[in-house]
Amino acid sequence: MRDLLYLGRYVRPYWKVVAVAVLIMAAAGALVPEALARTQAVFDGIFPHARVVPAAEPGAAAPAGRALEEMSPAEMEAELLRAALTLFAFLMAAACADGAAIYVAEYVGQHLLYELRRGLFEHLQGLAMSFYDRQRLGELISRVNNDTMILQRSFGANLVWIVSCPVGIMYGVYRLWRFSPYLTLTLALVLPMVIALTVLLGRRIKTLSRHMQERLGDLTAALHEALAGMRIIKIFGIQRQVGARFDDENRNVMDTEMKTAATRAINAPLVGIAIGLAMVTILLLGGRQIAAGRMTGGELMAFVLVLQAVASSVNRLSRLNLAMQQASAAAGRHRELLEMQESLPVVAEPVRPDHVQGRITFENVSFSYLGRSPALRNISLEIEPGETVAFAGPSGAGKTTIANLIPRLYDPTEGRVLIDGIDVREVDPQDLRGHMSIVPQETLLFGATVGENIAYGGLDATHEEIVEAAKAANAHEFIMELPDGYDTQVGERGVQLSGGQRQRVAIARAVLRDPRIMILDEATSSLDSTSETAIHRALERILRDRTAIIIAHRLSTIRDAGRIIVLDEGRIAETGRHDELMACGGLYARLYRAHHTDDADRLVVPQEDRTSDNA
Ligand code: ADP
Repeated sequence: MRDLLYLGRYVRPYWKVVAVAVLIMAAAGALVPEALARTQAVFDGIFPHARVVPAAEPGAAAPAGRALEEMSPAEMEAELLRAALTLFAFLMAAACADGAAIYVAEYVGQHLLYELRRGLFEHLQGLAMSFYDRQRLGELISRVNNDTMILQRSFGANLVWIVSCPVGIMYGVYRLWRFSPYLTLTLALVLPMVIALTVLLGRRIKTLSRHMQERLGDLTAALHEALAGMRIIKIFGIQRQVGARFDDENRNVMDTEMKTAATRAINAPLVGIAIGLAMVTILLLGGRQIAAGRMTGGELMAFVLVLQAVASSVNRLSRLNLAMQQASAAAGRHRELLEMQESLPVVAEPVRPDHVQGRITFENVSFSYLGRSPALRNISLEIEPGETVAFAGPSGAGKTTIANLIPRLYDPTEGRVLIDGIDVREVDPQDLRGHMSIVPQETLLFGATVGENIAYGGLDATHEEIVEAAKAANAHEFIMELPDGYDTQVGERGVQLSGGQRQRVAIARAVLRDPRIMILDEATSSLDSTSETAIHRALERILRDRTAIIIAHRLSTIRDAGRIIVLDEGRIAETGRHDELMACGGLYARLYRAHHTDDADRLVVPQEDRTSDNA
């Protein structure tokens, strides 16, 4: 229940609607037994002879109104009509209240789910990168999507019963009591059985449901991983293995769902049998009551009808309980996610620099990803404003990690990273990142137009600014050749761009911000030579006057960088310009020779020196 109660905070903004909904649902609940109780007058009108005048027992309550036997046939006819019309009015009111209740309950439920998804997404966006290193994306997607859907399925249509069933049961029992306290008391023998059964099965459903959602998470994760890695799967021809793994998860989901179905299936007949038992007992005992003159036939028939309504409310409530247990398991998983607090610490009064020169300093920086051996060990370096520095080194040496620390995707385990002499931990992260652009290895294209994709680098950019940025990135020409130019849809369900074209879109994005600091994570896979030349030319212009960090995975593009820092196992191994490093014949020279094919030289475009003094 605790898991469900926290959902309350999401409906708080709608408390007025909730109050109205509760009133309508309560009215709908009470109107049904009331309408059915009104059948008594009609039945007694139809079968006046079944109305045995009570033997003048001492203390027996006199029947209300005039006894029907005293009426003329015409009067009886009018009385029957009156009773029938009253019954109809109540049935109509009950039906309308029912419809209104379904709508308002759905309204509250859907708004709750909307707020919940929004809350979850906002929370996810606020979590630090280190959180995402440890999570399977598919599992997270499942928590936001599947668990919310289970919540929706469990109480979307059922929510209306939450109020109307208890009210219906209470009011129905009151009506039964008024017909016959004796018969009502005999029901008390059956009710505890139903309640015990419901509680017992509810517990099992909750456990099963929790398993079910975990299995769904695994299934979504398997699907996500397979789709994301489809290229690799095809290249290595491992469809069968991946298919088998998906199949395992798929079967797990089905098996767990079937166990839940079996439990639910047991619930319905057991409750039905208990209710049937109650019904037969009432008819037998009620018949004797009539014979003894303590009840009229109309009363017994109305009693049975109201009992039927109460029983169906009990049945619904027990199903609702099972659904709530499922919902509670899903809500529990949401709550877990919301309670995962993992964000970078923020200082109380962060610095918000208007202008940044672009000096980057690493002061004895060491860093380890959670639970891993150090990725950076005691790094100290100073990058002047306007300087271009390339990081090289074997794969896993820590190049990307250096780039991650500058926009503060992670905090150093030891030491400090400073921009213009200010510790990045003291700057508002949003502001800090506003002064830098990153061109990642893999460009993420959103399902939008090319122009919109470039504009993510500056959300309020004009079309002219976008074109300007594209020209600077040498992307304008190929964009103009696309079917709709800047309005061409790209990414999923759109035109596919080549690796080199994507990179140029990423560069245009980066340029649009006009940042002081540019971080370029060079693509690992090689690009076609036209793209490579185009990118190189573009960068030469763009990086002038900005502080630039190039993460070189292929070494072909950095021969003319002002300074090359060679990393090895998280340490700075060598520093210098390309020729100096080649001349001293160390790690860089070995890497360069090992990785370099002849045609790479062709890709390098001669350019003037860009050293630290051009800031
Ligand atoms: P490079 O960019 O030079 O190839 P990285 O900076 O990516 O190297 O990696 C440095 C070390 O940190 C490697 O040992 C790598 O396995 C580890 N590493 C990188 N990213 C993560 C991560 N997100 N979680 C855990 N370990 C990581």
